[in-house]
Amino acid sequence: MPDRDDILTELGLVPTWRLRGRETHPSTRPDRETTAAVRENADGPAMETVPPTDARAARVAKLEWRDFAADVDACTACGLARTRKKSVPGVGDIHAECLFVGEAPGSDEDAKGEPFVGQAGKLLDNMLTALGMKRGEHVYIANVLKCRPPNNRTPEPREVESCRPYLDRQVALIRPKVIVALGRSAATTLLETEATIASLRGRLHRYRGVPLVVTYHPAYLLRNLPDKAKAWEDLLFARRMLQTAGAAIDSTAGASEIP
Ligand code: URA
Repeated sequence: MPDRDDILTELGLVPTWRLRGRETHPSTRPDRETTAAVRENADGPAMETVPPTDARAARVAKLEWRDFAADVDACTACGLARTRKKSVPGVGDIHAECLFVGEAPGSDEDAKGEPFVGQAGKLLDNMLTALGMKRGEHVYIANVLKCRPPNNRTPEPREVESCRPYLDRQVALIRPKVIVALGRSAATTLLETEATIASLRGRLHRYRGVPLVVTYHPAYLLRNLPDKAKAWEDLLFARRMLQTAGAAIDSTAGASEIP
């Protein structure tokens, strides 16, 4: 287990970043107009319920956790079912307060059936640790696509649309207090926009009523070290949103002790 200094070094945060208690953050304007019905939830945020558009989506929208992974595994809605090794439904606490959403499984994830287990996953785990969070505890990790695109190519729009009901169902079942969209695929899918990450960062968005923060994908950060500091800002923003929502995540742990 790496210690905190190792993690901060890995994140490229030493010696630049220091948590300064209650910082203010740029505008918190919701990004989408709310046209759907809103369901109030005593534990989580208000969730918008959007009627599914076809029979398959309607069925997926009613799945329970006990059937979820098997349903993903049996899915043949797009061609990726033919080329993947394992489906990768998601991992973590089904009552998570924070939901991290990436793009699609890579080769390590395809082999293991678990999201973010390769190099990008190590960085994500280190980021979680620095935040005082841990994979599986109050955190759930999923991808837009549940199957690996061949050669890790960018997901095609029809694949994203085929898989969207599963991500929607995960959000509805988990009812997280905050969603963190990791990278462009997750952000543009969830927010239904073509905007760039740079323009989406630093603002609070909403996905079906759930607060959503956009940041860079860990794989991008591995190639663009200077942007790790920006990602760190985004994660602190997400954590502040969690604290505002009264999450049980220990806000005194991890990065709040940055020297
Ligand atoms: N990249 C992703 O977006 N998801 C994974 O699970 C692994 C790498």
